[in-house]
Amino acid sequence: MIVDYHMHLRNGREEIAHDTWSVDPFVEAAHAAGVDEIGFTEHVYYFEQTRTLWTVPYQTERCVHDLDAYVDAVVHARDRGLPVKLGLEVDYVPGREDETRSLLAPYPWDYLLGSVHFVDGFGVDSEPRLLDEVGVQEAWRRYFELLARAAHSGLFDSLSHPDLVKVFDERAPAFDYSPIAEAVAESGVAVEVSTAGLRKPVGELYPHPDFLAACRERGVPVTTGSDAHAPDVVGRDFDRARDLLRAAGYETITVFEQRTARQEPLG
Ligand SMILES: [Zn+2]
Ligand SMILES: [Zn+2]
Repeated sequence: MIVDYHMHLRNGREEIAHDTWSVDPFVEAAHAAGVDEIGFTEHVYYFEQTRTLWTVPYQTERCVHDLDAYVDAVVHARDRGLPVKLGLEVDYVPGREDETRSLLAPYPWDYLLGSVHFVDGFGVDSEPRLLDEVGVQEAWRRYFELLARAAHSGLFDSLSHPDLVKVFDERAPAFDYSPIAEAVAESGVAVEVSTAGLRKPVGELYPHPDFLAACRERGVPVTTGSDAHAPDVVGRDFDRARDLLRAAGYETITVFEQRTARQEPLG
């Protein structure tokens, strides 16, 4: 089984298009790429219903869309018999776990991705950059500390692009992935193997092979995702993702349905 569990619903001009007919080109692209099932995971901060969670301008400027419309679009596609799952890419806001949980509770999610894009008000992969504010070593320390809290929050089913902090190819030397892998394993969440990093300055998959090996050692389950913002990116470089997973010893992939995980043989 091959799943692409990370993508953003857009029209042909890469504009936000939360209508059910915009789903079809993604499904067609998935079919062409040999992907069996896809899941949509719009950014949580695009929705007016989540406005009270945000303090960073990047997020407060964007929460103008209707979460109900997005959910309806994907659910309708599923009802039309398309192999799609309903997800959301949720920024973890420390201290606001209860509010995040209750805002998202009314919707029929198949899974929720947990992401850390901002740490202490600075961007992990956007300006103003955390790296510039505190330096590489400290940026990595703070990023993974927050990711561990995200794992332990119980809010999420899987962690997106789990070592996003390497996006600019600025790395803490000889980083020890054992503590974060341990935290992830304890929490029971999955980690995402993402091909998006291949299209970024870092030029490699998320997560680093050493991070993935540390997860495998501790029995952490995995998903795969492209982070597509256009249909033609669905399933891109998934041969590389599969090679990375196999090299780490993985033989199964996680499939989510209504927030229940099961393992399927890795395709
Ligand atoms: Zn992301
Ligand atoms: Zn994304």
